[in-house]
Amino acid sequence: MPSLQIPIDIIATWQLPPSCTRCSSPMEDLCHCLHECPHYKELWLRIGMSLHLNYFLQTYVIVWIHDMVCGVASNLFIAGLWQSWCWRNNVIFEHQHWQIHEVVRKTFILHDDCITYHMHNGHNLSSSHLLAH
Ligand SMILES: [Zn+2]
Repeated sequence: MPSLQIPIDIIATWQLPPSCTRCSSPMEDLCHCLHECPHYKELWLRIGMSLHLNYFLQTYVIVWIHDMVCGVASNLFIAGLWQSWCWRNNVIFEHQHWQIHEVVRKTFILHDDCITYHMHNGHNLSSSHLLAH
């Protein structure tokens, strides 16, 4: 079985930018990625996610993630998280700059695909997890 670990000497050669690749903020930490970056903020607003400011003190980011994953729009939130991760990585590794409307579209498509998958496989999703858009 092949190892899933990446040799440390390969990791040492990676040149990842410490700054945000979308807004050029000098620091791209978890708080920036989830709330402070105007591009991510725009994504969350466009897909209808709550941006309660009290959650974005550094210590409350995990609480916000937990609440969103356990909330009524969890599938959409997780789709948004995944697409924002792909958005970031495509800029860094593929030099592809998606426009915000593309990220929003990809998020809704992924969300709908997940719902379809669950329905075809007999999973019982409550209607509260299905958002109209
Ligand atoms: Zn940013």
